[in-house]
Amino acid sequence: MSRVLRPHHGMCFQFYEGKGYSEDFTDHMGRIIREMESDPSQMVRLKVMTDIVCENCPNNEAGECTTADKVKRYDEEVLKACGLAEGDKISFAEFTELVREKIIDAGNRSDICGDCSWDYICREKERILRAVRRIAKMEAILDEALRRLDNAEGASEELLEYQAELKKLEEYYSSQDWKDDYALDEEDLLPKDLKRGVLSEDGIYVALERNKEMLERIE
Ligand code: SF4
Repeated sequence: MSRVLRPHHGMCFQFYEGKGYSEDFTDHMGRIIREMESDPSQMVRLKVMTDIVCENCPNNEAGECTTADKVKRYDEEVLKACGLAEGDKISFAEFTELVREKIIDAGNRSDICGDCSWDYICREKERILRAVRRIAKMEAILDEALRRLDNAEGASEELLEYQAELKKLEEYYSSQDWKDDYALDEEDLLPKDLKRGVLSEDGIYVALERNKEMLERIE
């Protein structure tokens, strides 16, 4: 048993926040997403046609979308990006993972559906998602750099081997990305529980200075 899903709805699910074409539609879409997420192992059949989401859509006219050409293009591009074909049967979890990896994380979403009327919602959420991932990555580098700096007296090799990662931290600290991430934090748009020492006034600066001093002593 599998449910029919339009491929591009795998993208819509990523950033859905309860907005849609009508109240009936949003209630229905919210319910479908909850059902899919409550059992991600369930199978979906990817079809370029009206699906379980379209059921309550005011643009669904007797089983045909009023923007058929546009959504067909979205569907075909999602299939292509994910390396899938129409009619493929796949678990919802696996399909979701492919959409995240091949489209969202790869930065391809707006190339596919940038002309959608809801693009502004996804664009803003993507901006935050990218910042969160970047901050988490830099935070991990900072933590590891501090650990190696603390142990550098007895294990200088460890610190020397980590210089390429420290360079990434240095580049981040002087980049527009850091300024953008800092601005998001100031606007209170980052998740409350996100660890963000890299955005503190001198978190990275102090680590880089310690690294410089230690290298002068070691080398
Ligand atoms: S009918 Fe068209 S606009 Fe409505 S949910 Fe389906 S694809 Fe989207």
